[in-house]
Amino acid sequence: MIIAIDGPAGAGKSTVAKIIAQRMGFIYIDTGAMYRALTLKALEQGIDVNQAERVVELAVGTRIELYNDASGNLTVLLDGKDVSAQIRQPRITRFVSDVAKIPGVREVMLGLQRALAKTGNVVLDGRDIGTVVFPGADKKFYIDAAFKERVRRRYNELKEAGEAVTLGNIEADLANRDTIDSTRECAPLKKADDAIYIDTTEMNIEEVAAKIKTWINL
Ligand code: C5P
Repeated sequence: MIIAIDGPAGAGKSTVAKIIAQRMGFIYIDTGAMYRALTLKALEQGIDVNQAERVVELAVGTRIELYNDASGNLTVLLDGKDVSAQIRQPRITRFVSDVAKIPGVREVMLGLQRALAKTGNVVLDGRDIGTVVFPGADKKFYIDAAFKERVRRRYNELKEAGEAVTLGNIEADLANRDTIDSTRECAPLKKADDAIYIDTTEMNIEEVAAKIKTWINL
């Protein structure tokens, strides 16, 4: 079974996808982590993310692996090295949407995501899972929340992780990513026609998980 969860940053996708995967014994595939890992490699090699050809070349020669442990934590390996924490840093977040808008990069990731999903029952979260990667997914969800609430959640998350962030930084980052992700030509962020829309602004994560579970069991 394939469950697709799409939506903008800060809507609660990854937290809820993790919960669902853990409760159902499914594999969780965080597709954003893949774009983040590639962004990290590009920055480490001093590659300008606007040089599409070079970034695509880099993507082709990069090994990205995702592992879930028993307690639902995700480990991201970039060419064999654990980069799980590094890829969440604001310097990566700042450039990831520029990397992700490159069609050749998306092609590489699409191949990887489809191959990973062959391993069995999976929950994938991202921006284009229900529209492009798995248009035939068994269940599709589009998780959304009001902009202000998404900013607040991302701010708290990063604060907890010990990052020096301000509300203003987060607001600018989310607005920038929303714009790039939803206006790019290749696989833009949008709700699939047959996806179930959930506005999580007034919901806590348990309520969102319960709602999704109800739909999955239908
Ligand atoms: O989900 P997360 O916020 O970690 O994703 C980081 C970025 O990766 C997004 O802002 C988007 O630019 C890109 N992305 C994407 N397609 C996906 C998942 C993420 O373009 N399926």
